[in-house]
Amino acid sequence: MFCQFLQDQSIQNRPLKIIYQYIFQNGLVSRAEIIEKTNLNRGKVARSLKELLDQNYIRVEGLGDSEGGRPPSLYQINPVISFLIGIQITRWETKIVLYDLLLNKIDEKTIIMMPNHSPNIVIEEIKSTIRKFMELYHFQVDDILGIGIGAIGPLDSDQGIILQSEPFLPIHWGSIPIVEQMKEEFPVFVKLDNAANTIVLGESKQYPAFQNILNVTVGWTWGSGAIHNGKLLKIESGDICGYGHMVIQMDGEPCYCGKKGCMTAYSSLYAIIEQIKESSPAYYHSRLKDCSPIEQIGRMVLDQDQLTKNVILDSAKYIGVGVANLATVFHSELVLVNGPLIDRYPGYYEEIIHHASLHLNNQGKIQFSKGNYQLDPGTLGAAMLVLDSLLGE
Ligand SMILES: [Zn+2]
Repeated sequence: MFCQFLQDQSIQNRPLKIIYQYIFQNGLVSRAEIIEKTNLNRGKVARSLKELLDQNYIRVEGLGDSEGGRPPSLYQINPVISFLIGIQITRWETKIVLYDLLLNKIDEKTIIMMPNHSPNIVIEEIKSTIRKFMELYHFQVDDILGIGIGAIGPLDSDQGIILQSEPFLPIHWGSIPIVEQMKEEFPVFVKLDNAANTIVLGESKQYPAFQNILNVTVGWTWGSGAIHNGKLLKIESGDICGYGHMVIQMDGEPCYCGKKGCMTAYSSLYAIIEQIKESSPAYYHSRLKDCSPIEQIGRMVLDQDQLTKNVILDSAKYIGVGVANLATVFHSELVLVNGPLIDRYPGYYEEIIHHASLHLNNQGKIQFSKGNYQLDPGTLGAAMLVLDSLLGE
């Protein structure tokens, strides 16, 4: 019902949708403000507000300041008329979060990715989690406004397919029509984008003052997303993730992509673990071999093994150079650098920022942050994809 209202392009529905969008974007607004800002006439606004209230799409939440007479009612959208699902699929975890329409988190579930986590197992777990949410919070499929998915790439966001996984995942993830598979059970609006994009989108909500934001997440590969002039930067292949394969060392270390000297070959967790295997084989075999990615990270942080520390901090030089290059290209004002190891390993983030600063030519203007990893920017951004698509600009 609610989704149909948002997608109804008829002339009769237009004023209702304009007013709903205005309230959605500005929250707690009076009738006078709506009349002034939407340029709709007084009668039309009054009738439309009544209809939106009757449908339960909006509600009155308090009173504004009185200008002599009765204080005006303030309108806000009804955040629980419909629900949003945000999903993030990465190599170390899959997270499913239930949001209301104001993007407040209602519930969440995390699946730690283990070597046996094939696409089918993960997708079935996602579906059963959504079914549990429906049971627990008493809503039907029709009450889901949409499902946003941020996933490891490369992918085809138009077709809703995860195309091809990186070669070192335990079970092949590739050619997965995830949007279609989700729609089979939940016939609602489903949108797929690269996790690097959903992360920067979710982060941008925490930093409304910045128009140019770069997010670099270094995990098993590089994930980079950028907000440029207030908008998610999209290029033909859907994201700017390919920057992990920018060459930073001519004739350097071989990369799994077939080239030599890529950023990923020096700084990804994959490269770090390969190097630990070489420089500290005893430690690798006793502590890291046959562990899940999340366990490997936990152990490296806990053990503080000196050789491991040298390898990790050495990679900070390369990440710093890559971050500086990207920030220069995208004229970033705010640069967020994070990742499962960067967030946890003592001194790693600081070392990266030190090296990034050495290679920037306008460092005075750039602000650095780890971002708000604990607020789940990936699932938040995935839910925002749905809202952006259905509510538009
Ligand atoms: Zn490469």
